[in-house]
Amino acid sequence: MPKYVYFFGGGKADGNGSMKELLGGKGANLAEMCLIGLPVPAGFTITTEVCTYYYDHGRQYPPELKAQVEEAFRKTEEVMGAKFGDPKNPLLVSCRSGARVSMPGMMDTVLNIGLNESTLAGLIESTQNERFAWDCYRRFIQMYGDVVLDLKPQSKTEVDPFEAILEELKHERGVHLDTELNVNDLKELVKRFKKVVKEKKGKDFPEDPMEQVWGATAAVFQSWNNDRAVVYRRQYGYPSTWGTAVNICSMVFGNMGDDSGTGVAFTRDPATGENEFYGEFLINAQGEDVVAGIRTPRKVAELAKEMPAVYQQLLEIRSILEKHYKDVQDIEFTIQKGKLWMLQTRNGKRTGFAAVRFAVDMVEEGLITKHEALSSGRIPPDDLNQLLQPIFDPEAKRKAKVIAKGINAGPGAATGVIKFFAEDAEAHVREHGQPDAHGNRKPEGRVILVRRETSPEDIRGMQAADGILTAYGGASSHAALVSRQMGKVCVVGCDKLKIDYNNRTVTVGDLVLRDGDFISIDGFTGEVMQGQVAAKPSEVVQVLINKTLKPEESRVYQQFAKLMSWADEVRKLRIRTNADKPDQAEQAIAFGAEGIGLCRTEHMFFDHIKPMREMILAGSAEERKAAINKLLPYQRADFEGLFRAMKGYPVTIRTLDPPLHEFLPHDPKGQAEMAETMGVPLAVVAERVKALHEFNPMLGFRGCRLGIVYPEITAMQARAILEAACTVQKEGIPVKPEIMIPLVAFPSELKAQAKVVHEVAQSVFAEMGVSVEYLVGTMIELPRACIAADKIVTEGGAQFFSFGTNDLTQTGLGMSRDDYGPFITHYRETDLIPRDPFQTIDFDGIGGLMQIGVERGRAASASLKIGICGEHGGDPDSVKFCHKLGLDYVSCSPFRVPIARLAAAQAALGK
Ligand code: ADP
Ligand code: MG
Ligand code: MG
Repeated sequence: MPKYVYFFGGGKADGNGSMKELLGGKGANLAEMCLIGLPVPAGFTITTEVCTYYYDHGRQYPPELKAQVEEAFRKTEEVMGAKFGDPKNPLLVSCRSGARVSMPGMMDTVLNIGLNESTLAGLIESTQNERFAWDCYRRFIQMYGDVVLDLKPQSKTEVDPFEAILEELKHERGVHLDTELNVNDLKELVKRFKKVVKEKKGKDFPEDPMEQVWGATAAVFQSWNNDRAVVYRRQYGYPSTWGTAVNICSMVFGNMGDDSGTGVAFTRDPATGENEFYGEFLINAQGEDVVAGIRTPRKVAELAKEMPAVYQQLLEIRSILEKHYKDVQDIEFTIQKGKLWMLQTRNGKRTGFAAVRFAVDMVEEGLITKHEALSSGRIPPDDLNQLLQPIFDPEAKRKAKVIAKGINAGPGAATGVIKFFAEDAEAHVREHGQPDAHGNRKPEGRVILVRRETSPEDIRGMQAADGILTAYGGASSHAALVSRQMGKVCVVGCDKLKIDYNNRTVTVGDLVLRDGDFISIDGFTGEVMQGQVAAKPSEVVQVLINKTLKPEESRVYQQFAKLMSWADEVRKLRIRTNADKPDQAEQAIAFGAEGIGLCRTEHMFFDHIKPMREMILAGSAEERKAAINKLLPYQRADFEGLFRAMKGYPVTIRTLDPPLHEFLPHDPKGQAEMAETMGVPLAVVAERVKALHEFNPMLGFRGCRLGIVYPEITAMQARAILEAACTVQKEGIPVKPEIMIPLVAFPSELKAQAKVVHEVAQSVFAEMGVSVEYLVGTMIELPRACIAADKIVTEGGAQFFSFGTNDLTQTGLGMSRDDYGPFITHYRETDLIPRDPFQTIDFDGIGGLMQIGVERGRAASASLKIGICGEHGGDPDSVKFCHKLGLDYVSCSPFRVPIARLAAAQAALGK
């Protein structure tokens, strides 16, 4: 019989920590904590398979489930010494979601299940605490009503019916806090809650405890497909087929008085990585209260005074968990009448800074090996980005007006305009925040989302914002947790801020800031500043690139460097960079690049546009040659700079690629100016522009097609490259030029272009009296080139390949990157395809073409050097794919080189 239910409790468990796929992360770890002897309230996990079954069978459960659940209930009751639904000594349970990866707050949980009129009497009886029991009951009806009966508001204008009743009653009684309501008030509240349920749903609130359990279970399964969970999954690329497990867990109560409480903690600081117990708690509260950020919790260290014995036990558990899991844990605990219960543990989400520090510290503490330190679970390669991002310039900050200080929950520097609602933030960024052609965004397009607290509904707005600032909540609040994961700058619990959502203002003392005003937040210190504050490079960049900081002065840099050196020891892939100019090349080398995988020569033509335009206007080959040769000295000087910077590393230079009309002005004014400077009639210019017009430039007169029709361009470029190489080699610096012909489809194209290059080489070497080793190869960016890769080697004479995956994706999918916006959004939102193919290689399709290219190319020449130079070269998943394909190197932009190094190491380690 299939096993759908896994019991845990009393030091025993059917499952264990390795069973995350089946039991979800929460369920697996509850079992594991039981097995290592930690105090966990007994319960059981309904597997993710049931979730899948539920969706595949029109929302029905497998027939065996009911009996297995009942059986698990009996065991739970035995361990806890109470009975579910028993009017004398009732057991209450929570019903908790739990996917295999944690999705904080995305899905639902219902607490206090099992309460009804008769068990309520039993709860009063067994706890001798009438107020507590009624408070549980009213919380239960509210939570169950919101989550299971769907009464939760769907938009920001709707109100929660239960909140409205609560406010109304408080108003009637003339009190401000929930805790000021007495037993009779709570009874009245329950009555009104039940009435509103009846009105809205047309039936009574369910009394039968088992019916409540099944209702909550269905709601948890359904929450797997709620809007925010779907958005979240899409963002992190988790498939919808995983499903969630359901955990039914005996209730323990942190709200039984001043000897009770609840808290959350990280075994180390998840923002900075410091080895310090880091968390917060509330006395007399239920779990949700800490995370919801409604009451501002206290630092966990203060628990040492409140409940010394419990605090000691927590410290022991902290160390047991770190030793056991060999990673920093994020825990939830509840203290019921002085007894500590563990409700959850998982690997803690962390910033890039903390990730590096945890990993390096733990290796030094002997807790993990270097290889373990490099795993993608500990350090997602993209997170290294945070160590390279700007920080506030101390000079500018000294002059800035600090208006408040909160808790530093997500490190970094962020400046932007204030938005108070997630939807507004999203809309603002959509309208004003799009990057320009150089990938830069205007300051006005950046948003700081300012809220009292955030909730899972705000996730899209948080994603759009550069920074998040909240008035309430602590370092474990939703805002803090989610920002850390997204790598956003975040300051929370800034209680000096008075936020007025209606008027869209935030007030600090006398200062009133409005929607659209600039604000700056420092996620390292928690400071909030008025207006824009200038940022400066990160410590790593200061050490490596600007050389304004000494390595020994920056711990962040030192740990980064150590980690990178471990990555370099294991990786098989070489990492090159895409760089056109010597300064970019030097940056990339500082970041660890081992060559240039793609030097685009276009910018050289744009920098000297006049001779280029003369060439385009030229009437004869002779005139064309005369014009193009004016460019030779400039190109040669650029290449010399590159070769010097690269000190013997290979440099792949691509011959001219873009269509010629890109070099001509398309507006009448620009054409008139051009005619003027060139001394030709306007009509000539206009005529040429018209003649070069293309209906489909992506598939037009570009790439090697230019060099084939105008071989003098290729000849000039080959000469510039090889003369530069000879000159630099004469200076004693080794050179490795690799001349790359773009957009080859037919072997004959490459053969013709290679012939031009080889002939030029012969004359340059004769003229200069030296020769250099050089290669001629091709960019593989057309499906035909992949299929005919063997012939491109044997007949075309290719000495290396470099996959141009941008164009290969465009031509392989028949999808223009400039035009795919409208439908790709739809594709992604409906999960039609798992990833954006221009961000991560489409493994099955474009990746399949690449595989054919590699196999056929290497069949023709076993030692053929193969790399990739598209944007994908800096995408960790694509890097891992390239490792599997057996490429020699990946090439990416300078700032992505460290990310690619780490991803390559993870690929080599299979992690
Ligand atoms: P999430 O996945 O959003 O963290 P949880 O299932 O962990 O949701 O539950 C949310 C909160 O409810 C937790 O903070 C936890 O402290 C509290 N909680 C859940 N189950 C119980 C229980 N059996 N007893 C006491 N508190 C509980
Ligand atoms: Mg939890
Ligand atoms: Mg291309």
